[in-house]
Amino acid sequence: MKKIIYFILIIIMVSGLTGCGKNDVLKRVEKNKVIVMGTNAAFPPFEYREGEEILGFDVEIANKIAEKLGVELKIEDMQFKGLIPALQAGKIDFIAAGMSINEERAKNVDFSDGYYEASQVIITMKDNTEIQGPEDLKNKKIGVQLGTTGDEEASKIEGAEIIKFDTGFMAIRDLQNGKIDAVILDSEPAKKFVEGNEDIQILPNELTKEYYAIAVPKENEEFLEIVNSVLEEMKESGEYDRLIEKYFE
Ligand code: GLN
Repeated sequence: MKKIIYFILIIIMVSGLTGCGKNDVLKRVEKNKVIVMGTNAAFPPFEYREGEEILGFDVEIANKIAEKLGVELKIEDMQFKGLIPALQAGKIDFIAAGMSINEERAKNVDFSDGYYEASQVIITMKDNTEIQGPEDLKNKKIGVQLGTTGDEEASKIEGAEIIKFDTGFMAIRDLQNGKIDAVILDSEPAKKFVEGNEDIQILPNELTKEYYAIAVPKENEEFLEIVNSVLEEMKESGEYDRLIEKYFE
């Protein structure tokens, strides 16, 4: 009997020391006094580089989350496809990357409330009269950003050859060089890219409707609630509208 009690005590002690390997964001943040946002800073106006700095709509939300917790914000810039594995490994504390809620991802992460309604759009050269809408993409060469919902959407198109790029910007460059026929990309970055390039256009028909949300590791309910309360407070205080004006108009 004594032996069993000792055994149980040892197990409790060991699991207490290692924290059972749980990916506990709030505990980590309290210890390190810093919270780490993971993103792919090539997605204007949500996240982009200006010199050494990473700025954007998502960065402002992330700053509010850090402020609420009373810690500093650190940003890790990485490939979009690497974000969920990094979150699961505890290398970052949350993802703010214009990441759309979808079922597949929700198996591995928890999503906050949606904070932005977006869509996938088609970008072509202005002088391309052949591609007028989604139905004309069959058997075409289509550029997408690797691991995104645009990538997923493109893979449904019959006979299409899908070319995967690290960033939307690189896909646009190959479109302009005549290497591909169209690019499928999120609506807002698409608008930003088209603004700076006279020779390309966005087609009117959207392919999807999706919602961006902050992703946190599973089993972090308390942290998720904090993230949702920050989003709600930003909406109530008018801060959210101010940001929409700042980044989208
Ligand atoms: N919204 C898209 C997705 O979630 C693309 C996001 C991005 O490239 N940063 O897949």
